[in-house]
Amino acid sequence: MPVAELRELYQQIILDHNRAPRNFKQPETANREASGNNPICGDRITVYVNVDDNVIEDIGFQGSGCAISRASSSLMTAAVKGKTVQEARELFRTFHDMVTGTEANPDKDRLGKLAVFGGVREFPARVKCASLPWHTLKAALEDSSKAVTTE
Ligand code: ZN
Repeated sequence: MPVAELRELYQQIILDHNRAPRNFKQPETANREASGNNPICGDRITVYVNVDDNVIEDIGFQGSGCAISRASSSLMTAAVKGKTVQEARELFRTFHDMVTGTEANPDKDRLGKLAVFGGVREFPARVKCASLPWHTLKAALEDSSKAVTTE
């Protein structure tokens, strides 16, 4: 990765979540799961979710990938835990619009720490790294047994 790109993207929060990812585990109880794969970068992730009464009671992830995908997975799990399935889907939409540049002024209040990924829109290859965990979560929530790929 070029140095300028690193400088742009690797903010402290991303470094922190890459170094010590939150919810990097397979929850003891999980009733949904899906796997995702970003062949361009080599990121692979499995997301485990325990949904109870339409609420994401627990969530965890496993896998390997670059710092962006790892930090994004970590921040995603922290952001959606305790939210309803509907709220998680809305957050994904807001996040997706931000990283793809569809929305020029993303709702920073709603995004919270997820706003740190706003810079990836400048780097199309990194958009896939940042959005992979979200696509995988969406598949898990839809209980799709199909594996997700960013291609
Ligand atoms: Zn990646």
